[in-house]
Amino acid sequence: MKITDEIKIGGHVSTSGGIYMATERASKFAFKTFQIFSKNQMQWKAKPLDAEDVKKFRKAVEYFGFSGTMVHASYLLNMGTPDLDLRKKVLDAFSLEIERADILGLDFLTFHPGSASGTTKENALRNIAENLNTVMRDNQHCTILLENAAGQGNTVGDDFHQLASIIDDIQIKDRIGICLDTCHTWAAGYDIVSPEGYAETIDEFASLIGLERLKGIHLNDSKKGRGSHLDRHEQIGLGTIGISGIRNIVMDRRLREVPMILETPLGEEGYQQDIDAINSIGGNGH
Ligand code: FE
Ligand code: FE
Ligand code: ZN
Repeated sequence: MKITDEIKIGGHVSTSGGIYMATERASKFAFKTFQIFSKNQMQWKAKPLDAEDVKKFRKAVEYFGFSGTMVHASYLLNMGTPDLDLRKKVLDAFSLEIERADILGLDFLTFHPGSASGTTKENALRNIAENLNTVMRDNQHCTILLENAAGQGNTVGDDFHQLASIIDDIQIKDRIGICLDTCHTWAAGYDIVSPEGYAETIDEFASLIGLERLKGIHLNDSKKGRGSHLDRHEQIGLGTIGISGIRNIVMDRRLREVPMILETPLGEEGYQQDIDAINSIGGNGH
């Protein structure tokens, strides 16, 4: 049995040529899930989704049997901002992300918690929770995932304590979770490579946040070392995490139902290589 048959493997795919094209691309790799941007990730606004496109997209998701599908929010959104004018803009854009994810029927909306530029980390964390409480709705379909950060510059959310403190303050608890990016986790300083270090890292996550909140994984290797706080993804097996680190994740039976999304630098050009690297991991699970 191939390891990629056992895990919920997917990758970030392009929507160019129509949003439903993402499903075609994902199906070429036999992915079980995928991630997209529902709009240009470097812009605030987007033209409304076309009803025909949405229909085609939803049909294709069903046809190919994708589940645990994910949207990655725009990179522009800093939910931690202390700037009140900017906050209004961020809230509008975040609401739009939720709305689009729900129109498309996608399961998870992943976003980078934000940065503490112009304020303290404590304030930024409080702003993030407060802003999430403003935009979240009881009847929303998608679950919002905080993506852990590498801890570059002023960014927050590299530390599990910080992620836990945001979640603590969220009102609609059944619509909030975490997406762990393996590159960011390693760059933030957590050991996921040695078997003991990996076990400790997951234990720490479980005790601070709860393993049931781990709804997504971004499966990436890292160009930079552990604790570098640099966010530089690498193809699976070719970075400083290496195949032994990736092995810990993909062989962990507790994570079998968690979407594992590749976001490696070659994108669709490199996914087959990544899949082969994962499947080169032999041996018995634990
Ligand atoms: Fe991300
Ligand atoms: Fe990521
Ligand atoms: Zn990253």
